[in-house]
Amino acid sequence: MSAVLWPVAGHIVADLNTVNGTGEHETAMRLIKVVEEAGEASAAYIGMTGQNPRKGTTHTRTDVADELCDVIIAAAVALHSFTATPPAVLEAKLNAAARRLTAHPAALTRAGLPELTAADPDRNW
Ligand SMILES: [Mg+2]
Repeated sequence: MSAVLWPVAGHIVADLNTVNGTGEHETAMRLIKVVEEAGEASAAYIGMTGQNPRKGTTHTRTDVADELCDVIIAAAVALHSFTATPPAVLEAKLNAAARRLTAHPAALTRAGLPELTAADPDRNW
């Protein structure tokens, strides 16, 4: 997890709160922003594959990765509108995902990854 995600998201939230307020409309707009960024990631992927012959290849894998990062940032910002502790909520979600992986070690084996064990120093699930 990036150490700068939450501080940057927090600053964006503070700025948006100052400029746009914190009402229901603003909450909806922040959620819609996540979808907008997901659409940009999709558009970049379409452009990367050259799926539209009229346009040709217009994007790269780097462009898709950049847009996916925008999705993550927008989601981190939007998450602030639904919980007072966004980092803790994400951490809990990641731990739940880790528990699922632990419960189904075949998924790790398929990916060529070692099983998650109690000896893992980062384990807290
Ligand atoms: Mg974008």
